[in-house]
Order: sequence, then structure tokens, then C-alpha cells
Amino acid sequence: MKINGRIKLLIVLFISIVLFSSIYFLINQNKEYKEMSYKLFLDQVEKGLVTKVEISDSSKFTGELKDGTKFMTDNPRVENFKEKLLLYNIDVVEDDDSNGIASKIIPIILMIGGIGVVAYLVNNGSKLAQREMANMANLDTPASSIDKVTFDDIAGNEEAKESLKELVDFIKEPEKYAKYGARLPKGVLLYGPPGTGKTLLARALASEANVPYYAVSGSDFVQVYAGLGASRIRELFKRAKANGKSVIFIDELDSLGKARKGGNFNGNSEEGERTLNALLTEMSGFKGNEGIVVIAATNRIDTLDEALLRPGRFDRQIEVGLPDINARLAILRLHSQNKPMSEDVDLQKIACETVYFSGAKLENLMNESAMIAARERDKKITMKHIDKAYFNVLVGEEKKDRSSISIEDKKITAYHEAGHALVSKKLSKLNRVTKVSIIPSTKGMGGFSLNIPPDRMYQTKKDILSNIMIALGGRVAEDIIFGSDNITTGASSDLQKATEMTILMIGSYGMDEKLGLINYDVVVNNNLTTDVSLIERAKEMLENLYNETKNILIENKKYLDLIANELIVKESLNEEQIDQILAN
Ligand code: ATP
Repeated sequence: MKINGRIKLLIVLFISIVLFSSIYFLINQNKEYKEMSYKLFLDQVEKGLVTKVEISDSSKFTGELKDGTKFMTDNPRVENFKEKLLLYNIDVVEDDDSNGIASKIIPIILMIGGIGVVAYLVNNGSKLAQREMANMANLDTPASSIDKVTFDDIAGNEEAKESLKELVDFIKEPEKYAKYGARLPKGVLLYGPPGTGKTLLARALASEANVPYYAVSGSDFVQVYAGLGASRIRELFKRAKANGKSVIFIDELDSLGKARKGGNFNGNSEEGERTLNALLTEMSGFKGNEGIVVIAATNRIDTLDEALLRPGRFDRQIEVGLPDINARLAILRLHSQNKPMSEDVDLQKIACETVYFSGAKLENLMNESAMIAARERDKKITMKHIDKAYFNVLVGEEKKDRSSISIEDKKITAYHEAGHALVSKKLSKLNRVTKVSIIPSTKGMGGFSLNIPPDRMYQTKKDILSNIMIALGGRVAEDIIFGSDNITTGASSDLQKATEMTILMIGSYGMDEKLGLINYDVVVNNNLTTDVSLIERAKEMLENLYNETKNILIENKKYLDLIANELIVKESLNEEQIDQILAN
């Protein structure tokens, strides 16, 4: 759309007026608040002088001191900020009052809108510069007393902690190591599933070594304008070097450093390649004894460009895996330390029942339990609260209004879930089914059957086959009871899981005699072909497993009916009730 000069001038004039009135409004509105530095704020918090804090998503937040002074300071936007303030007995108000928000946000929206339009009309580039400045401003995140993390705040992950503790000494006294000709590893790569404490480890390293911590995310560099990603990397290293010693943390390294194929980036643009090259150059550029450590984290080490893993780059690679039972217990203990736990809470039992939970999920479980206890105004957190939280974390909260569910749908869900549960119990005595429910959840699930496999380091072929059959159990039950024409869409995520497991089993783990030990990722990545089709073989395998599952359920149809009927009446069954039905 072309806008002629006069109209353009009028628009700029109009926007300028709106802009100035908004700024005037904002300035006047904030007059009653005394500006305070964030450091002073932390001091006041620790001295117990802060009574009230109003937090919101904006760059500043306000509060009140014991003597009635109203203040305003920078919003650090750190994780668990609210919880930490609550621990100091501060009355924390989240700014969700619609009037308050409206009065603050409308001028801000007008201002941002105004700036946006003026910037668009005058020059597209200024918008870019603005965003760049905002991003750079976030780079320097000095560790404060409120967000200080130590290695003691991280449970489990013993090997990773040991490895990083070694670096603390390296960072503190690089000269000591230089004397022996030893150099600090330039880059440390932490890899493992989400929520296992990788960010926490990097923050602990910086806190324990008492050096500044710079955090960026690989995804910040994706889809930036030409040359910007690379210059941002250079700026990051420049700042770190100016400080002497520091920890640079790059989260989601995979979105920045995906493997290049045939000169092109897989999924990334040319811009991504430039950014990656800038990172590699910067990492090669600093000497090992400067006391700067680059820590990167990824959930997908397999997709990383090999250049990143060469000596002199991320040459120390540490796996941060899902916690085992002891680590889960330690994490649960850590996150219940600051909470009023009732004596009936058996953390050991919870640790047993949380196989495959990450640290983040365990933290979420304890937090959710505390919220439920607080909502119910109980003095302590009991097993009842934790049970409720457990299902909320796994499947979402129970839907309160279930009046619209027809008896037909209830019956289908009951047989579907009974199918999963029964196959699980019949396949191995070690499998536990701790709950089956046909209560729909707010996350959109019709029901669920909670199967807890034994806690083991490795999965055997037999375990994987069992898991595929358990996943197919729901569809098989529908097929047996309602007929093949009446099977439903309720099995879609089960089929996704079953297909994934089958493909991995035969294509990556070499567990099929027909496909042999071939790894299909290698085949596909190198544009090779094999004489046996992975898809055909997976289909054949799933069909065989489906028939095997069908035989189990037909043989045990009596129990299938019993569990389904009980579910229709009671809506959910616990472990004891299920075991009792099967014992009859
Ligand atoms: P992602 O890969 O998704 O970035 P991450 O591995 O970096 O995740 P963190 O951000 O470090 O995970 O962990 C998230 C939260 O989970 C932490 O703030 C902490 O509360 C909890 N947590 C995770 N692992 C542990 C652990 N080992 N000990 C204590 N708490 C943990």
C-alpha cells in the first residue's frame, strides 16, 4: 500500500501526540514510587524490610517497605521469583487486576504501537536495532542472592556435578593449571532429556566460581536478520572477555548447531551457518587459561554438527540423564525441604512411582501438592494432596462437568482403559497398574491407565515388546467388544507411541532378525537403501503384536468385562481394587 507524503506526515504527527501523552501519563503515574536499585531491593528483602511486592511481566515491578515507602525497581524475571519472595514472608500480589493492568497497559500499547508505526514509516531498520538492543540488555544476568544456585541445590547427577566442580577450581585459579601446561576445557556440553537440571548445573558452576553468568538460547539466533546472529555471538564473547572470568551458557545448542548436510544446513538457513561459524571462531579464539567456560545444553546431541564436538570446542561432553530411584528420592527431599510435610508422606513410595520423571517434573509435583494443600487450607501437605497432584501433573486436572458424556462413550472408554490395564498385568507380574480412570481430564484425555514398569537402567527387547502390546491393548479391547467397524479415534496417541517404539526397536536398536543390526538413521542420512523396508517390517511386526494382544484379551475376557463394569460404576480404580478383581 502506498501512502502519499501528506497523509504520512499527518499519521506521524498524530502518533507523536499519542506518544507524548502516553509518556506524560506514565511518568505521572509512577511519581509516587521511589526508584530503587535492584541490589538495594535484595538487601531490603534480606533485612526483612519489604512487606509487599506487586509483580507483573513488565520490566519494572513495584512494592512497599515496612515504613510505607512505595518503591519501583527492575524486574529480574528470574524463575521462582514469587516463591522466593514468599519465603521472606512478603505479600506477593500478581498484577492481574484488570483495571490496574488496563491503566498501565493501554498507554504502553499505544506507545509501542506508535513506535512501531513510526519506525515502519520512517525506517524498517530502526525496529531491528531496537530489538537487538533489548536482547543484548538481557545478556548480563549477574547472580544475585535471590537466584543463587549451588551444587547442593541439585540432587542426583553426581557425575555431572563432579565434573563441573573440577572446573570451579580451574576458573578460580587458572594460573595454577597453566603452570602445568594444562588448559581449561573450552566448552562443556551437557546433554540429556528436558528438565534434568542442565541449566541449574551451569548456574551452579557460575555461582560457586563466583563469576558472572551469561545465558543465551540457541533459538534466539534463529530467524534473525542477516549478520545479526553472528554479531550477537561476537558481542557475547566480547562482553565475557571484558569481565575476565565468566560462564557463558548456551541453551538449546541444537537449534543453532544442527548438522550440515551437503554444504546446506538441515533445517537451518545460511544465516544459521554464519552464526555457528562465528561461535566456532570465537571458541577457537580464546586461550584456555582466561577463565571463561562455555557451557552448552541440548536435548539432541545426535543432531549436532560434528564441528562443535571437535577438540578445542565442546570437548567435554557430560550426560545429564533422567534420575534413578535414589536420585528421585533426593530431588523429592530437596523440593519438600521448605514445605510443611505431614508425617504420612512417604517420599520413598513416591520415588518408586515416578519412573521416567525428570527433576523438573518432580519439582512440579511437589509444587502442585503445595498448591492443592494451600487451596484446601490444610496445615500440612499430605499423601492425599500428593496423589491428586500426581495425576494433575501426568494427565491434567479432572474435568468437573461430566454430564455431557453419553453412556456409550463411557462404555467405550471403560473397555479401552481396561484393555491397557489388563494387558499390562497379564504380561508381567512386575508391572504395576496404580490407577485406571475413565474421568476425562482438562488436557483432553478421555481416561487413562497408569502403568508403572520396573525401575531399570536398560530396556530389554521383551520390555519394548510388552510396552507396544500395552499401548495396543486399548484398541484391541474396542475391537473385541464393539467389532472392527466400531473401533474409535481414542487410540490415536496409543498408535503413535506403538509405532515410535517399533521403529526405534528395529531401526535403531538392531533388535529384529530380519532387519539385522542396521541403523536406519545412518541409512537415511547417507541416502542409502536396504533390501528390507523398515516401514513394511514395522507394519508386519505391529500386526503380529496386535494379534498376540488380541489372544491375551480374548482368553481373559472375563476380567476385561469385570474391570470395565467396575469402571463404569466407580469411574476410577486404584491398584488394590484392580489386583482384587484379578485375584478373583
Ligand atoms: P531443558 O533441557 O528443558 O532446558 P534443563 O535440563 O536445563 O531443561 P533445568 O532448567 O535445569 O532443566 O531444570 C528445571 C527445574 O527442575 C529446576 O529449576 C529445578 O527446580 C528442577 N530440577 C531439575 N533437575 C533437578 C535436580 N537434579 N535437582 C533438583 N532440582 C532439579
